[in-house]
Amino acid sequence: MNILLVEDSPVVSMLLKTQLTKLGHKVDTVENGQQGFHRATSRHYNLVISDIVMPHWDGFKFMEAMLVISPQCPIVVISSSVEEETVRQRLTRFPNVIGFLPKPVKADKLKELMERVKSYSTENVRKLARIVCTIGPSSQSPEILGQMILAGMDIARLNFSHGTYEEHHERLMAVRAAEEKWSRPVAILMDLCGPKIRTGEMRDNKITLTPGARVIIQAEPLEGTEERFSTIAPEILPDLRVGDPILLDDGLLELIVEEGGTTEVACRVVVGGALKSSKGINLPATPLSLPSITEKDKRDLAWGQDHSIDFVALSFVRSAKDILEVKKLISAGNRNLKIVAKIEKPEAVENIDEIIKVADAIMIARGDMGVELPAPRVPWVQREIIKRCWLANVPVITATQMLDSMTTNHRPTRAEVTDVSVAIREGTDAVMLSGETAIGTDPLNVVRTMASIISEEESHTEPSDNHCELMRNHQGFNPALAAAASLGNATAVMVLDFKGEIYRHLSKWNRSIPTLLVTNSLHVARHSCIYKNIDPIIIKEDLTRDQVVLRAKDEAWKKGYIGSGDVLAVIEGERLTKGGIAQIGAFQIIRVE
Ligand code: PEP
Repeated sequence: MNILLVEDSPVVSMLLKTQLTKLGHKVDTVENGQQGFHRATSRHYNLVISDIVMPHWDGFKFMEAMLVISPQCPIVVISSSVEEETVRQRLTRFPNVIGFLPKPVKADKLKELMERVKSYSTENVRKLARIVCTIGPSSQSPEILGQMILAGMDIARLNFSHGTYEEHHERLMAVRAAEEKWSRPVAILMDLCGPKIRTGEMRDNKITLTPGARVIIQAEPLEGTEERFSTIAPEILPDLRVGDPILLDDGLLELIVEEGGTTEVACRVVVGGALKSSKGINLPATPLSLPSITEKDKRDLAWGQDHSIDFVALSFVRSAKDILEVKKLISAGNRNLKIVAKIEKPEAVENIDEIIKVADAIMIARGDMGVELPAPRVPWVQREIIKRCWLANVPVITATQMLDSMTTNHRPTRAEVTDVSVAIREGTDAVMLSGETAIGTDPLNVVRTMASIISEEESHTEPSDNHCELMRNHQGFNPALAAAASLGNATAVMVLDFKGEIYRHLSKWNRSIPTLLVTNSLHVARHSCIYKNIDPIIIKEDLTRDQVVLRAKDEAWKKGYIGSGDVLAVIEGERLTKGGIAQIGAFQIIRVE
């Protein structure tokens, strides 16, 4: 059997390990619950034996986390306090506990319990790429959010197309509570709806458009009928030209403009069907004079600046100018709000290089993109954007419909699994879940499924030619980074980067060994959540450089990233040495005792 032994007493641990090894079992030992959890996210154990009272994460916290990532893994609890009624009572909450034994553990009792162990299947959830989850009614409780964090959520998305400020505030507080409980920085992304154009209200909430029929779109609000309906954005009407296509409800229906006008436009129905109130209108061929940032976006952005938001995403970006405008709206000197450009309009695809230059991150918003562009072009555009972001070292999120069927189903379709794997293989930093986690029936199951797909794909991903070439080209920029990135035998790389200026280079180059970002800023740590393979360690105290390294090493050990005998590479960026020599990169190799 593969056994994980979670026990802080070295004597108890050694005695039990010797006993079990003699019986032919393979035993991994760790000294606290978080180390145990770290191991269990990437290895299959037939059995876990866990102490209760331990420093850092105790046995209960460990078992709570195990219920999330490996709910069927059998656990035997060993403790000096198992006879206590309150402990026994608390253990009843854990259906995977198959027994408890007092210390010193009697070999025959343990053997008896081990005979009850049944085989079960589990999937690894340890991954490098990031998961963005949209938070909604299904996922807004601190308990579920905590479970989603354990399963692999890195960024929580608040979608400002829906919900009130009170609802967003409540969700934000719940994310922060879950983040604190599990001591893992989580970024919050507010998604501004931008100039999303919608239809007005329809009579009885639904009309039916017949192919070939004539229909008018007008500025003045009215109860829509088969003959005429309104739009919530009448400013678009003067922009519409004869022959322009109008796509309704994610492109399910199509009209063509026959007669332009400033207050009403006459159209012919090309593809008909049912049209409900407030459905999206996409105008893929019409150059719009509508501002990219609406008054609602400005209000929402001001709200975001008053709350602990880390990223703001702007919808329907057309050019770099839109991003620069948002930057201007963000109070001067506010480094805590990074901007994500959502690429969904044909103009944005055309202007992608200039947008990448000014945005902090890119989102490939495939939902609207598949309406604004011919859907068959979306996979190619996705691949091209990921490649360009990678070359510019700007993180990129691939979004929408990744595990769509899991909004209601327990398992994804094979096509969805392939879609996630392909995005990972192409080098996306993050993948996004929308309705799956906002309104889905089992958001935790969706996150766990996505993490396991990523984990599987990453176990096969090789560095590309591009990757190797880029590393060679960047050696002049910081040779210590390049050296650390090509290290073969280190267990982890630790980057001392208090201001968060260099870690992102390692995210790109050092794709397999864990990269531990040491910073004193929670904001830097949260911003790193969008970069692949970065695990932040926050050290707030004012310490000397060597003290920081020692403290960070202890933290990394406590969390399970490194163990005794491991090799740790420590690097840092520019600094002046004590002797006043300008150093562009320091590189140190440490053996962990
Ligand atoms: C999209 O269109 O793919 C997208 C992410 O945007 P939204 O969910 O806001 O429509």
